[in-house]
Amino acid sequence: MDFVLKVSKLCNMRCEYCYEHKNLESKDQISLSQFDAFFKSLGSWVEERNITERIWLGFHGGEPLLNSLDYLEGVCSLADKYLGEKSINYAFSMQTNLTRYNKDICDFLKRRITTLGVSFDPACSLRKSVSGGDTYDLVLNNIEAALADKLNFGAITVLSAKNLDKIKEIYDFWVSRDVPFRLLPVSATDNETQERIQHLMLKAEDVLMAFRTLGDLWLETDTDLEIDPVAGYFRSAIAYIKGIKVPPVDLSKNERVHYVDTDGKMYNYADHYTDAGYLGDAFKDSLATILDSNQRKASVHLQMKDTKTCETCPFKEACNHSPLIEINPTERVVDEDGEAICWAARPMIDYFVRRLSG
Ligand code: SF4
Repeated sequence: MDFVLKVSKLCNMRCEYCYEHKNLESKDQISLSQFDAFFKSLGSWVEERNITERIWLGFHGGEPLLNSLDYLEGVCSLADKYLGEKSINYAFSMQTNLTRYNKDICDFLKRRITTLGVSFDPACSLRKSVSGGDTYDLVLNNIEAALADKLNFGAITVLSAKNLDKIKEIYDFWVSRDVPFRLLPVSATDNETQERIQHLMLKAEDVLMAFRTLGDLWLETDTDLEIDPVAGYFRSAIAYIKGIKVPPVDLSKNERVHYVDTDGKMYNYADHYTDAGYLGDAFKDSLATILDSNQRKASVHLQMKDTKTCETCPFKEACNHSPLIEINPTERVVDEDGEAICWAARPMIDYFVRRLSG
């Protein structure tokens, strides 16, 4: 189970495609006393339900490393207090633009962050500073320094109209550095973002072509790096060929990801920042109240209803159905009749099945 903690929306970059664009100047920050209330509630909830699976606490923003290390350490210490002392299985993750990097940051990341994600678009320059300057070389230098420091991280590269023809360069960049990565098609979940990034948007067939190219490169390389999303499609193809049954995701039993916004509002994963995805106030309501509420049941029902499409899919027993619960419209598109269309996972699994079957 993941909690994405929107510690602060403040950011020193203005990436063209950022869905938080209008909030990036805000200095609002989740206070340590608010974290105290949240972790206390989380610890009680996990203990009462005897949950043994790992609880991921993800620092997200904005740029989380703009918050002081003392503050971030303070957040971790509160989690230690309420989760660690109960022997709860928890760990921290962070998604950063890595514009800030030095020895103290490296030490903190190595000591506290189990899973680190770096956002960077090799062979493309969409990630601007506040003043509009190019941050490419700055982040590239920090990536090289982090690798030299033996800091483990994965990466997210956004796929857009600007780098559609650079799949091999992107692949070679990360694989030559032994860094697993996710190629994430640009998407917009609100009207403001939709208008702002029109020039970056891709057609479905372009995304599929990019994924096929990525899958081909991955299969033709001697690497065990996890390259998403193609690695997941590939595993489903293998399961289909071998007749292995994969249990479908059931959010009513195990909702995977929750967003905790800077103001305490908690949302489900697929519909964050919308009324439909709103679950409660993480700083005021107990987690038991939020996660047992009718609001959450309705939200789970809403998320799960798109998996009806899976009933007629040839790969329904080899796939965990999560592509249709995903936030990313690359996976989860609903047509005019309200039917969810699986326009990336299904054709990609089919592609791998055909390729592997000769
Ligand atoms: S429709 Fe898509 S998500 Fe559902 S089982 Fe098929 S490939 Fe998986």
